[in-house]
Amino acid sequence: MASTFETRIFINNEYVEAKSKDVFTIHSPADGTLISDQVHSAGEQDIDAAVDAAQKAFKGSWGRQDPIERAKAMFKFADLIREKAQDLARLDTLAMGSAISTQTMGYRIAADLFTYYAGLADKIHGEAIYPTSTGPYKIVQREPIGVCAGIGAWNVSSILFAWKVAPALAAGNTSIFKPSEKAPLGVLALGPMIKECFPPGTINIVNGAGKTGALLASHMQIRQIAFTGSTATGRKIQEYAAKSNLKRVSLELGGKSPSIIFEDADVDLAAAKTAESTLMNTGQICAMASRVYIHETIADDFILRLKKAFDAVDQRNAIGDPLAETTEVGPLADQAQFDRVLSFLEIGKTDGELVIGGARRGQTGLFVQPTVFKNVARDSRIAKEEVFGPVITVQVFQTEEEAIKLANDTVYGLSACLYTKSIARALRVSREIETGSIAINDWYFPSLGAPFGGVKQSGYGREGGMEGLNDYLQTKTIQIKEVAVLPNKRSRADCQRNQHQYYLVMKSILRSTFDGNVRKRRASVGGQLVS
Ligand code: NAD
Repeated sequence: MASTFETRIFINNEYVEAKSKDVFTIHSPADGTLISDQVHSAGEQDIDAAVDAAQKAFKGSWGRQDPIERAKAMFKFADLIREKAQDLARLDTLAMGSAISTQTMGYRIAADLFTYYAGLADKIHGEAIYPTSTGPYKIVQREPIGVCAGIGAWNVSSILFAWKVAPALAAGNTSIFKPSEKAPLGVLALGPMIKECFPPGTINIVNGAGKTGALLASHMQIRQIAFTGSTATGRKIQEYAAKSNLKRVSLELGGKSPSIIFEDADVDLAAAKTAESTLMNTGQICAMASRVYIHETIADDFILRLKKAFDAVDQRNAIGDPLAETTEVGPLADQAQFDRVLSFLEIGKTDGELVIGGARRGQTGLFVQPTVFKNVARDSRIAKEEVFGPVITVQVFQTEEEAIKLANDTVYGLSACLYTKSIARALRVSREIETGSIAINDWYFPSLGAPFGGVKQSGYGREGGMEGLNDYLQTKTIQIKEVAVLPNKRSRADCQRNQHQYYLVMKSILRSTFDGNVRKRRASVGGQLVS
């Protein structure tokens, strides 16, 4: 297939060939056709060039820019992304097979993230700490950090790009973003829009796989790195940062999110929402609720309704060609992801009971059936590890305490869902669940103004909202000592002259006082000088 899109890297507002001369290949997961075998992969010299460009922009044209001008540039960029959302989405759909409707939504959310953070660019204030018995007056300034880097996973390159770059820019930093090698084309196509809105070096985009990511995480001039991807890679990022310049790190990692469905839940709603979360992006969503814990009295009813919800998607022909506008569910992202999901299906069949799906779907493309297992052994890999595909396990419980214990029995802590009609129970259980986000009577989907991120081995740091901006700011505290200030500005010579005049005045006062005293004493002793 002829290359009808950009495959080079984008540095200093220009597309350039990678000096590394390395290229990589992308095939369509929908039908196996070649998308490109010429995607440039950034090496050490390319990363150095991107850092140099970003450093210059940070020290000058972007970093020293009036915040209101920064906001205007970001608003404009947001509008351009919004206008071209579907064209950009098409490029990611070609590469990683997610439905074009889903990826278009991703670019619209990315545009909204730029709008949201543009609005905050001129509202970054510090604080003043007044003199107290424990110290003098202090001003706390919130300053940008410098050159920041972002590394994305492949499931929604658009949102991951915006989550990292928009708050970085709003805070006055500059950015280098590496999209995943499985879905780099849409973000890479932003080059002309970046050039239209920002000074050279403000946003740089470098393609490549793990080796390129490692160069960013290890770079001595990069001050902050925000990573989205697997927990295993997140550990490496932290290690590279520690071994290089101790750059700041934020990690948005994997999940194995639980969904607790209580006996008083609206079972129809729970089934519809579970199906939606399992099928959206073909289950390749970090916050997908992949472990369902359901009260034993409603489990069979729930599974029946879940099957109906999956069948309904099939009946309206919404699984298939990801470029068709009516498609809701496409193939998995690539052969490696397909093989991984199929291997989990085999584990599920051995360690549990297959109730829905369980195989590849059709013979063309990397499609799999939505799959449900029940009664899976608790220590089975499919019960513990992230599958990142349309596969869930269902297990029954009897009591609230048991449900909480099961939900927390994981190394992950990204997100959770609770289905119940009792708000008191929902809030009580929310307090006990060890995750960064919880949805009640829904599955969790991040929004612009709220922080999103994990606890435990799902990572740390937050994206979205004010918390997301704070990750790109550092404080500087300035202490002020109060000193007596002369009424007018005077030179040292003026002061010395003043001191001399002061001395003369004082001398004359003292003399007149002394003379006066002498006169008084003379008078008192009959005109005799006594001292
Ligand atoms: P991955 O860890 O394999 O790759 C993620 C990114 O890291 C890619 O850009 C890749 O090129 C890069 N990378 C790989 N090895 C590297 C190394 N040694 N040094 C530096 N960079 C390296 O993950 P993936 O398969 O692309 O994405 C799926 C994972 O992402 C899942 O675990 C999913 O849960 C997670 N995810 C999390 C969130 C979140 O917000 N928490 C969002 C989306 C995806």
